[in-house]
Amino acid sequence: MSLPLSYEVTLPDGQKFTQPSGLFINNEFVKSKSGKTLDSINPSTGEVNGSVYAAEEEDVDIAVAAGRKAFKTVWKKTTGVKRGQLLNKFADILESRRDLIGAMEAWDSGKTKAQNAVFDIDETVAVFRYYAGWADKIQGRVIQNNPKTLAYTVHEPFGVCGQIIPWNYPILMASWKLAPALAAGNVVVLKSSEITPLSILYLAQIFKEAGFPPGTVSILSGYGATCGKALTSHLDVDKVAFTGSTATGKVIQQLASANLKAVTLECGGKSPLIIRADADLEQAAKWAAIGIMYNQGQVCTSTSRIYIHESVYDKFLQLFADHVTSDYKQGPMFNDDAVVGPQVSKQQFEKILSYIDIGKSEGARVVLGGERNAEGEMAKGFFVKPTIFADVTPKMRIVNEEIFGPVVACGKFSTDEEVLEYANQTQYGLGASIFTKDITVAHEMASEVEAGMVWINSSNDSDHHVPFGGVKMSGVGRELGEYGLSTYTQAKAVFVNLSNKL
Ligand code: NAD
Repeated sequence: MSLPLSYEVTLPDGQKFTQPSGLFINNEFVKSKSGKTLDSINPSTGEVNGSVYAAEEEDVDIAVAAGRKAFKTVWKKTTGVKRGQLLNKFADILESRRDLIGAMEAWDSGKTKAQNAVFDIDETVAVFRYYAGWADKIQGRVIQNNPKTLAYTVHEPFGVCGQIIPWNYPILMASWKLAPALAAGNVVVLKSSEITPLSILYLAQIFKEAGFPPGTVSILSGYGATCGKALTSHLDVDKVAFTGSTATGKVIQQLASANLKAVTLECGGKSPLIIRADADLEQAAKWAAIGIMYNQGQVCTSTSRIYIHESVYDKFLQLFADHVTSDYKQGPMFNDDAVVGPQVSKQQFEKILSYIDIGKSEGARVVLGGERNAEGEMAKGFFVKPTIFADVTPKMRIVNEEIFGPVVACGKFSTDEEVLEYANQTQYGLGASIFTKDITVAHEMASEVEAGMVWINSSNDSDHHVPFGGVKMSGVGRELGEYGLSTYTQAKAVFVNLSNKL
């Protein structure tokens, strides 16, 4: 029996909705050509939440062709004002269903609803509004060099953009890509993560509701090796934007070379957090906890390595462990006071537990956690206790490899030079935190640290007005802010001969 194109769902908090299960192409949900489907698993229980159709190459071809047609016939001719209105309308609808969509996101991804998922919806609304404001303010320049020539630039959209997102912030990561691309006048074919395909399909239909023309946005569920590969290597896709692991990012760059697509990559990280002797330790402990425990540690910018000056090492560790114990309660997604939910999948859960074993066998000291949490309602879920390792040394794997869970490696240092060397030792360069009261040293360190983002006396501060992205193997290009918009246009130079003579 084939999967219906939608089915009724009642969420654990009692809210009801219709879950679409098709591929969203030309403003309609359709079955995949192969009829293949994929299952989405509930992280709290390990049971199937629902199934959706999985796109393969043929479906990608159809979505890209729909996008190309929409770009040529409608979207390219749509004014910036109109694009902005549509983006704002989308934001209005999303905002009016904040609680329902937040609940769907929790159910799909394992985020705790009240303490986490609903804030992603708020931020998504803000991102759409921000880029709606940009849609009619995209401007080229007049270049005044030769009085006999009028030279100007036009910032044109690429055309059809392929976008590939991960599972850790399904809706929010989609917004970082969809909103600037559409504001700049591109059309989009977006592939969701095979681990979290549900909430984004509900979002897809809001594009139709808001009035976006058919073909402007297609949303495909599917696996990376089939759907993702077909989208990235497609000869009629002009640009690809990817968020995910560094290993996949390398593959994406190779596949995109098929037609020299423009590429932006937001990849993995192992961001350091430095605590100098003069730091406010109470504040440092609070930010350090947010920096690694929020979203179950499944944040690319997680400050997962903490370097503490030897003179405040024991004191900080005590404050940090106390704060995590008191403020990061663990529980299923729909428990209102739960902050730390389950990991997204069995595979991630097992990967994190194996890193905990590696840390122990490498000789790191467990200060907190260090095992799964199978208490009460959590018995069947993918819960890992918030884990603090101390006394780590530079060569340990838990210090250098991205774990992507609520596991932090803490070590000590003596001098600023030494800690900067530690901070810069990994292949990654996404974020870095520095805690100090010395403003001069703070800026010196910000300059020396190899990272796309530096937080002085905070961790994981993010704001959609400010560019986000990494250096080294953490990525290429920036999202958010005006920088993020600029990655969705290319400059065309026009020369006008004003003298009429050769
Ligand atoms: P992943 O690389 O496994 O998958 C990401 C996406 O790529 C998925 O949609 C997947 O289906 C797709 N994909 C996989 N193989 C592909 C292929 N051959 N061709 C095309 N697409 C393919 O990453 P994940 O496990 O979903 O997410 C976790 C990773 O994402 C972590 O490393 C994390 O640091 C990173 N991340 C980075 C940022 C950032 O902004 N820098 C943000 C969030 C997550």
